[in-house]
Parts: sequence; structure tokens; C-alpha cells
Amino acid sequence: MKNMRRIYAALAIVLLLSKTVASGQTENEIQHNVSYKGPIIDVHLHAFHAEDNGPPPAAFCVPVSSMIQHYDPKDQWADVVVKKSKNPDCEDPLWSPETDEELIMQTVEQLERYNVVGVLSGEIDFLPQWLEAAPDRFIPSLKFSLPADEMHVDSLEALIKTFDIEVIGEIGNQYHGIAPNDPRMDKYWQLAVKLDIPVAIHLGSGPPGAPYLGFPKYRLKFSNPLQLEEVLNKFPSLRMSVMHYGEPFIDEMIAMMYTYPQLYIDLGGIMWTYPKAYFYEYHLKKLVAAGYGKRIMFGSDSMTWPGLIGRSIDIINEAYFLSLAQKADIFYNNAARFLRLTTKD
Ligand SMILES: [Zn+2]
Repeated sequence: MKNMRRIYAALAIVLLLSKTVASGQTENEIQHNVSYKGPIIDVHLHAFHAEDNGPPPAAFCVPVSSMIQHYDPKDQWADVVVKKSKNPDCEDPLWSPETDEELIMQTVEQLERYNVVGVLSGEIDFLPQWLEAAPDRFIPSLKFSLPADEMHVDSLEALIKTFDIEVIGEIGNQYHGIAPNDPRMDKYWQLAVKLDIPVAIHLGSGPPGAPYLGFPKYRLKFSNPLQLEEVLNKFPSLRMSVMHYGEPFIDEMIAMMYTYPQLYIDLGGIMWTYPKAYFYEYHLKKLVAAGYGKRIMFGSDSMTWPGLIGRSIDIINEAYFLSLAQKADIFYNNAARFLRLTTKD
């Protein structure tokens, strides 16, 4: 009997093991390797003109942090970047479309292929052309940066209502040397609260060498999310998303999400900015491990390279530590909740 029991016990272990060995994976691993195939919300799209990132066609290599690995300041950085974008080193460069029409068309193609609806940030005189191309694929968002967009608060309210704007963003003040807590923004934060409209602010890296690439006032120090504290205390009902999650200030961002539980973040193209292993290990995995998987939103920041939408989706789908449910949150549920498209969880 005793031996028999041992045999049964051994058999049970073998059966359990065989369940694992049959496919070479545990059930947990299988769930982690499943790609998310449902609808996606990309909260970080831009209605750019074809020439907005230099003369097209311009090549783009990912990860962009290693597209140009070293630089001698005897040269002009902008010249080096343009030269590299004409003769890229990488095996699979993305090439930007040459006309606005082609850029819009290729973007819409990507959105349809991956079943994406995108929050489209643009200027009021160009946004309608994009929206007309695929009204069901875009959520209109008003690009806003001081000092250029300084206006009477009533004028901004009129613009929002006339053009059915659903998000104020990307707020690009950092590119113009303006701090996240600059009091010149207070009247606009107040308006967002009054209209109950979400805001999305750029905090984080710009293009490599941003101050030498057309943004002389860009300052990295304004990436630090701690600088949003006064804003969130003055306007506690402001619905705010930090675009690019204030990278690489991950610890500060986690502390802000803990202290300000209304704060959301978007991934804003950082999945292709740095090598995938670094992005996974030191950014995304850390944010999820800290418990914030319900407030991270997918964003491709595709700009003038529509192919970045698909590549960004793949990088999130390949994140070995994310379960299918966590991918569904990042790709869809969190943005739907932030934008109040649904009332689900
Ligand atoms: Zn940005």
C-alpha cells in the first residue's frame, strides 16, 4: 500500500510535469506569451506635416538612442542628423512619406491594420484634414505650447467647443524652456477642470540633442514629474496624463503616482527610444511592479513614421513579464477609463 501510494504520488507529479513539458511552457508562461489582439487606443499620435522632422524621405532607426552613437562637436549636430537620416546604418529603417496626403494615408492604414483609435494631437488649422481622412479612427486633441499659443482663456474655450476637441495636448512647454508648474498655465488648467477635459503634458526626452535641433530652450530638468506637485494640489480634479512618463525619472514618477492617484502616464514612443531590454527592465517592468499597471496607457508617438505604430505595438506585445490582462489594460482599458469612453472597472 505504502509503495502504491508512492507510485500514485509519483504519477501525479509526472502528470503535472507532463502538462508543463508537453508544450515546454507553464500555463503562466503561455499566458504571458500571448499577443493582445483586441482594439487599441493610441493616446499619443501627431497630426504632423510630412516635412516636420526634416526633409522627407527621412529614415528612422530604432532604437533611436543608438542611431547616432557618438558625435564630435566640430560638426553641427543638425547636419549630422540630416546626413544620417539620408544614409541610415540600420538594417530595417522606416522611411517617412514624402507628402502630407501620403503621411495621413499610411497612418490610417496602420490604424486599420492594428484596430487602433488614436488621440491625435495637432494644430487647429491642420487637424481637420487628418480627421476627415478617418473620422472614426481619431479623437481630436489640441496641441498647445506657451508662449506661442498664449491666448485669452475664452478663445481657447471657443476653439475647444467649435472643433469638438476632447483632449488638450500635447502640451509642449518643456521644448520652450517653460517649467511644468509655470503659473502662466494656471488659467488653462482651470479651464480644463471647468470643461472636464483631460490634459496631456510632455515630460521627458525630446529628439536626441534637442537643444541643437531647433529647440534651443528645451531643458531636460523640466522632465522631472515632481514639478507637477503644485499643479495637482492647486487643481485636484484635473485629469492629467504625463506623456512619455517623465522618463527617465522613473522613481519620481512612481512617487507621484502614489501620492496623486488620479495621475495617468503614457508610454509615448519610449519603447523605441531605448533598446528594448533597457525599456523593459528599468522602465516598464518597474512601473508595473510598483503596482501601476492600471494607469499606463499605450502611445506610439509615430510623428512622420507611421510604421512606428506597428513596431510599438509589437514591443509591448513581446514584453515577457506582462500577462494578457495587463496588455489589455495598457493597450485599451486604461485609456478608455482615463478618457471616460467607458465605465468599465
Ligand atoms: Zn512628447
